[in-house]
Amino acid sequence: MMRTVKLKLNTTEEQRKALLRTMETYTKAFNFTTKWGFANRTSDRRKLQQNTYYDIRDRWPDLTAGLVCSAIFAASDALRGARLRLAPCRKQHSAIRYNLNVVRVARNQEYASISTIQGRVKSSFHYPEFFEKFNNWHLKTTLLVYRKQEKEFYLGLVMEKSAPEIVSGGESLGIDRGFVNIAATSDNRFFRSKELNEMRSRLAYNRANLQAKGTASAKRRLRKMAGREKRFSACVINQITNDLVKGDYTEFVLEYLRGICTRKKAKPLLQKLNTWPYRKFESSMEYKCEEMGKKVTYVNPYATSIRCSRCGCDDRGNRIGKRFKCRACGFELNPDLNASRNIAELGKSQSGRLNVNQPNASHDETANKIRERKRADASICKDRFRPTN
Ligand SMILES: [Zn+2]
Repeated sequence: MMRTVKLKLNTTEEQRKALLRTMETYTKAFNFTTKWGFANRTSDRRKLQQNTYYDIRDRWPDLTAGLVCSAIFAASDALRGARLRLAPCRKQHSAIRYNLNVVRVARNQEYASISTIQGRVKSSFHYPEFFEKFNNWHLKTTLLVYRKQEKEFYLGLVMEKSAPEIVSGGESLGIDRGFVNIAATSDNRFFRSKELNEMRSRLAYNRANLQAKGTASAKRRLRKMAGREKRFSACVINQITNDLVKGDYTEFVLEYLRGICTRKKAKPLLQKLNTWPYRKFESSMEYKCEEMGKKVTYVNPYATSIRCSRCGCDDRGNRIGKRFKCRACGFELNPDLNASRNIAELGKSQSGRLNVNQPNASHDETANKIRERKRADASICKDRFRPTN
């Protein structure tokens, strides 16, 4: 598993200029490489290196050999990411990857020595006590980030450590996500979204007013407000996921909600769905579980809200508005709670199936995750074409 630790660098005016100029030149080298790779239909590192390295050294002689290689490697990754459909282009001050040949980080002495086009820059940073848990992690690479508004540089340390083995055989918890409750769990817990919804609509209202005004001070205010909603919802989601993963459960079952709405101009309800931080919730659950050797499973959301969790009847009439009452057995329950129990059940049957079909399932987590997502995707497509009665 990988984590990034961000440290603020203490830089002098001169160092800042050197770093900025390095970023600009690095960007030129990067764009030059992607352009060549795109024109010659290749993202192969070695080919790129062989064909662009000397040209780059000629054009921008200030850029050190290490930085040129770094730019070529990054360009190769970017080309591969874009699958050669376009030539990736960087903005002049976007973050750059500094591999360990061009930067030296002394965590204990709290300084970093960074290669620039004007020689090495030695800059100190504060390494907080909180980060000491990363002391025995392996430093993989670093990222140099420039924040334009603050006019400050940050160094991101990308650390790596092998994840603990996944605990198997424990209980699984179903989690239903929605508007009324950010999360409702199959063990009868509710995390209400009232506070979050209020904050979001208040901010949207203020934003709309300020945008309509359009004066210089309104724009200044808008810039100050930018990111507030994101930070607030991140905080709320963090608290909830902390609470959820703490318990004895070893598996958490979520609905696969990717791509529920991709339209730009949507109806108000869908618009809300569009901006709801589902992905944030998922990533937060995933990385916390990874650290604890727990598992997140995704299941097909088809009919989870209309199926009866007691008898399994999935009649559309079971759910009317905010009420759930089974037409077959008369079972009545909070709809979100009912859905979460269905999700837990689906998770159980899915992991049961996994064990039978794949006795030698690979330990590679990413491969497993991708496989799970693909499976969920496939079953969603199947349902889309299933005739309704
Ligand atoms: Zn029923």
